[in-house]
Amino acid sequence: MRPNILYIVVPCYNEEEVLSETARRLGAKLRSLMSTGKIGPQSRVLFVNDGSKDGTWQEILRLHKENHLFCGVDLSRNRGHQNALLAGLMTAHEKADMVISMDADLQDDVDAVDAMVDKYLEGVDIVYGVRSSRKKDSFFKRTTAEAFYRLMNCLGAETVFNHADYRLMSRRALEGLAQFKEVNLFLRGIVPMIGYRTDVVEYQRGERFAGESKYPFHKMFSFAMEGVTSLSTKPIRYIAGLGFFIFLVAAAMLVYSVVRWATGATIMGWASVMCSVWAIGGLILLSLGIIGEYVGKLYLESKGRPRFIIREILDDDHGPIS
Ligand code: UDP
Ligand code: MG
Repeated sequence: MRPNILYIVVPCYNEEEVLSETARRLGAKLRSLMSTGKIGPQSRVLFVNDGSKDGTWQEILRLHKENHLFCGVDLSRNRGHQNALLAGLMTAHEKADMVISMDADLQDDVDAVDAMVDKYLEGVDIVYGVRSSRKKDSFFKRTTAEAFYRLMNCLGAETVFNHADYRLMSRRALEGLAQFKEVNLFLRGIVPMIGYRTDVVEYQRGERFAGESKYPFHKMFSFAMEGVTSLSTKPIRYIAGLGFFIFLVAAAMLVYSVVRWATGATIMGWASVMCSVWAIGGLILLSLGIIGEYVGKLYLESKGRPRFIIREILDDDHGPIS
């Protein structure tokens, strides 16, 4: 039987500072796995350049020229982490038996790849890399990220706790993923929907090797909104519940007002009227905003725009590597 081909997909946005070190470590990992015979010599590292403004693509070209172990996909413009990752996965799945996705900044422990490949060889289709500790992340990042996972689950977007996009997927799992056509892409919510046998590998999350995070707070916030609204309609149901509750309060207020009127004390209550006007006005606007978010999503989905456009693919004929 021919050994399995592994592709490691790495989305990169302005990552020129870290690429050579990432390539060195991933290259060494592939070679060591090839020497044990667990993966075939056609295995590759696939860098996806997500419309970087710095010299990331030049760096990928250089790496590819030096060694065909490295290949690349250049997107036509910046499309964001999730779309870049999808572009890489869809390019790799035609050639690979298993694909691992990983960030470029080496925060994901490269040594967890061995355990993932072992699980694949045992017959697991999706292996999630789960962070056993986030001590290396800043306090702010850790608390906001953990609050994010809890909030997501309670709003109905079920995700694997403390799992980001470091995971192994088999070819048939990727074929499953290819059938999800949604434009509002939130991979870590979609992948668990694919099914098949899944397992978890724990790893310690390290610090970013160089450069800055490409996920500032506003991007994280919109990512969280994307996650919730693309996976679940629970927020709309909560709004309906809130509307019902406010209706009950209004009924009670009606009884109260009638009683006050009957006892002749009707002038009081300016403050409470003002507060209710503001509170209810605010709630209505918030509810409309949430519903608008879903309507906007529908609008985008109905257009069915492409999720990414590829400018160039660097690949080789799967010949021997140096
Ligand atoms: N990334 C990307 N496109 C973007 C933003 C980020 O491809 O528009 C990549 C980035 O190069 C990195 C990964 O997504 O490989 C995760 O980003 P980062 O490490 O900055 O996020 P953090 O770990 O701080 O959440
Ligand atoms: Mg990072």
